Amino acid sequence: MKRVVLISLLAVLYACNSVNRKEEVEVESEFDFGTFKAEFIEAMWEINPISASYQGVHKYDAQLPIPNEARKEAKLQFTRSWLKRIQKFNYDSLSESDKIDYHLIEDDLKSSDFYVNLFKAGEWNPSSYNLGGSFFQVINYQKHSLEKRLEDVNQKLIQVVAYYEQAQKNIKQPTKVHTNLAVQQLEGSKSIFNKTLVDSLNASSKDEEFKIKFQQKIDIAIAAIESYKVFLQTEYLDKEYDSTTFRSFRIGEELYSQKFDAEIQSAYSAKGIFEVAVDEKGDLHEKMFRLSDMLWEKYFNEAEKPGTRFVQIQLVIDEVAKTHVHRDSFVTSIRKQIPELVAFVNDNELITLDSKKPLVVRETPEYMRGFAGASISAPGPYDADAETYYNVTPLDHYTEAEAESYLREYNNYTLQILNIHEAIPGHYTQLVYSNQSPSLIKSIMGNGAMIEGWAVYTERMMLEAGYGGDNLEMGLMYYKWNLRTVCNTILDYGIQVLDFTEEDAMQLLMTEAFQEKSEAEGKWRRARLSQVQLCSYFTGFYEIMQLREELQEIMGEKFDLKTFHEDFLSYGSAPVKYIRKLMLKKLSLEAKSSV
Ligand code: ZN
Ligand code: ZN
Repeated sequence: MKRVVLISLLAVLYACNSVNRKEEVEVESEFDFGTFKAEFIEAMWEINPISASYQGVHKYDAQLPIPNEARKEAKLQFTRSWLKRIQKFNYDSLSESDKIDYHLIEDDLKSSDFYVNLFKAGEWNPSSYNLGGSFFQVINYQKHSLEKRLEDVNQKLIQVVAYYEQAQKNIKQPTKVHTNLAVQQLEGSKSIFNKTLVDSLNASSKDEEFKIKFQQKIDIAIAAIESYKVFLQTEYLDKEYDSTTFRSFRIGEELYSQKFDAEIQSAYSAKGIFEVAVDEKGDLHEKMFRLSDMLWEKYFNEAEKPGTRFVQIQLVIDEVAKTHVHRDSFVTSIRKQIPELVAFVNDNELITLDSKKPLVVRETPEYMRGFAGASISAPGPYDADAETYYNVTPLDHYTEAEAESYLREYNNYTLQILNIHEAIPGHYTQLVYSNQSPSLIKSIMGNGAMIEGWAVYTERMMLEAGYGGDNLEMGLMYYKWNLRTVCNTILDYGIQVLDFTEEDAMQLLMTEAFQEKSEAEGKWRRARLSQVQLCSYFTGFYEIMQLREELQEIMGEKFDLKTFHEDFLSYGSAPVKYIRKLMLKKLSLEAKSSV
């Protein structure tokens, strides 16, 4: 079989502008998808040194590519040539796991053209040129000696001036919200240069000459950042009065639907999922209204009902939310709950949990504490031997009022749903399964909608299995929680495509989704800065529910929930539509062989 090997393509990419000079050599070799993947990943890091540092690959730490025309061409050339290579493989002959990898790579390469030629975030999002984080990734990499790290930074610093000159040329009518974000972030990232890097320099054993030159480069880099910031200020923010200064933050239907396809990788279109979400919202309101009716007397005795659906639901939610743990026992109550969830999953035979890998609940380390809350921290693909933790941030730094508001949000009921989502059998369980068939491609290019969709699905699945008994409060709080993912989708599409105003957004989030003002305002900001990602939770959830129903229908009596969960997770963090394809195929093969 034939395989094309690109020899020193990347050396050419970086050397000069003559990226069209292809050096392809045909080599006779084994038809080996594993080798292909390894070479592809390596080439990908080489052309994306900044992403590489973030993902834990530190071979290219000294590089900082300039975002110019030549680089754009190089990226397109990269995707064209790797697409050509991958399409030479015979898809049907690949293993199931490799088939998924094939799709992930192919989809990723295919989306490149859209991002480079149509989406063009580099023209309207000034915050995409923030180098603070990429320098931090280099200086913070503990497996390199401090001296080596400083040498990498030293090299990288040389490019900063050219980088920002190019950034300035690239900006064409930015959005106001991204320009404000950029100014704020650039100011913050200066401290990486004049504090983090300088501290590291002073702590090192480098000689005086190195230190002096390094410090000069730092000063020049900070001046470059400052001048980019001033440019954004004077050319744009100061000219706010002119209606042509900024473009709308709304990307519109065409770009949105294409970005949705590229990022969510769903069988549904953006519009299709939006319509499902609107229906779902109505159903949830119906269910919540019924529950609030049933709970009314318990909390309000003989008092008359307000007569408005949304107000009644809100009043009952406010009462139920008062049942919460004490602020000092937030961490211990979560820790106590994990074994209870494990027992429930085992007793009800919902999925096999690996008893050798119990989840470690810990207080979030100081350096990671940004927001209060709970999250799973899993080791990256290049640091696989590290532990997985369930980080819970204690409420120590909260005022009484802040703690109370937070604890009402994460009341006794919602806290349990959060634990299902983050830990068992949500994110943590999915992670354990995906690590059983390790695939670098899936770790790097894993599908966010599947990952979030699974966690959201397990909340519903646990309640269906009887978790919480027939507790009405649990039901009400679950629906409120679920309504959030539904409204995230409506909000995102609404803002980006349907011209939702801030008032529309607040009506949706505060009145119809029963959210606090602070949460709603945070969402309004996030939904203007990002696009599509907010849809991932509901889309993944909905597609998993659909797939389960479809298989139940086909298999009838033979359908087994536990087998379904284990099969589903065995494909790794892949788009649900591809898992569906492979599961249906497996089913039809089994049907044939049993005839
Ligand atoms: Zn309270
Ligand atoms: Zn999640």
